[in-house]
Amino acid sequence: DQLISQIAAGEVVERPASALKELLENSLDAGSTDISVALLQGGVKQLRVADNGGGISQDDLTLALTRHATSKIATLDDLEAVASLGFRGEALASIASVSRTQIISRAASARHAWRISSVGSQIMPVEPAALDAGTIVEVSDLYFNTPARRKFLKTEATEFGHCDDAFQRIALARPDVSLMLQHNGRAVSRYQAGPAARRVAEVLGQEFADQALSIEESAAGLRLWGMAAKPTYQRSSRDSQYVYVNGRFVRDKLIAHAIRQAYQDVLHHDRHPAFVLFLELDPALVDVNVHPAKTEVRFREGQSIHRFVFHALHKVLATPVG
Ligand code: ADP
Ligand code: MG
Repeated sequence: DQLISQIAAGEVVERPASALKELLENSLDAGSTDISVALLQGGVKQLRVADNGGGISQDDLTLALTRHATSKIATLDDLEAVASLGFRGEALASIASVSRTQIISRAASARHAWRISSVGSQIMPVEPAALDAGTIVEVSDLYFNTPARRKFLKTEATEFGHCDDAFQRIALARPDVSLMLQHNGRAVSRYQAGPAARRVAEVLGQEFADQALSIEESAAGLRLWGMAAKPTYQRSSRDSQYVYVNGRFVRDKLIAHAIRQAYQDVLHHDRHPAFVLFLELDPALVDVNVHPAKTEVRFREGQSIHRFVFHALHKVLATPVG
C-alpha cells in the first residue's frame, strides 16, 4: 500500500506546485474566502496553506490522510489502473505519503480543533489542537522518503516559479477569494476579494489591464468572457496566457489555435498576445478528467467550440476602439 501511495504520489505530486494546486483546490472546495500560502525553499522544504473554510471533523481528519479506494488493488498489474483513475479523493493521502504532513482543522460545529500528522505513510493519532476556524495544512520535506523523485526537482527558484504560477492561475479564476502568497517569509502577492477586473490588473499588471479589451460573447450554450490584449499592445511581462474552461485552468491546443488565429487574422503576424479568457459550456460537452494532475481537456464538438472562440475573439479584436 505504501508503494502504491508513492507511485500514485508521483502522478499527483509531480512537484511542489502540483501539491500546492491540490491544497488550494481543497481550500476552495471547503468554501474558503481567505487563503494564505507560505512556502519555504520553493515549496520543497514546506508548503503551508491556511484557510477559513468549513474545516474537517475529527473523524474525517484520519480519513483525509488515508487512501480509500486502493484496498481492492492487490497486484502490480493493477498499478496501471491506479495511475489512470485512482485519484479522486486521494490527493492528500498521496501528498502525505511522500512528505511529513500536518493538518490542523476546526469544523464549524466542533467544540475545538483537531490535529493529525504523518511521516510518509505512517499516520499518528488525532489529537486536540488550537485553531479558531478553518484548516491549516503543512506539507514539509517533500520526497524525503523517495530520493529518486527528489532528484527530479529543479532549483529552488524554478520550483517556486511553478508554485507561483499555480497560485496566480487560481487567483485569476477566483477574484471573490482573498489570497496571499509568501516565499521564505517574504510577501509575494496579496489580493483582496473584489471585482474580476481588479484581480486581472493585480495579477497581470495595471499596464495590461489599462489597454485590454473586454470580451463577453455568448452563443448556443457557449460563453466566452475575459480580457485580451489589444492587437497593438506589444508588451507582455510574463507568459500571460490564461484559458479557463468552466473555471479550471487548461492548456488546450484547440482553444489556443482559435485564439492565435483570431490574433493573426487581425495582426497578420504571430505575436504572443496576453489574455485571460473564461470559456463556459455545458459540462457534458467537455471531459476535464483526462488526467487529474494535468490541465488537459477533451471537447465533444471541438469544431464548433473552435469556431465560437475564434469568432468571439475576432469580433472584439477587429472592432476599432479609441
Ligand atoms: P478530494 O479533494 O478529491 O476529496 P483530497 O485528498 O484532496 O480529496 O481531500 C480529502 C478530503 O479532505 C476532502 O474531500 C475534504 O473533505 C477534506 N479536506 C481536505 N482539505 C480540506 C480543507 N482545506 N478544508 C476542509 N476540508 C478539507
Ligand atoms: Mg482535493
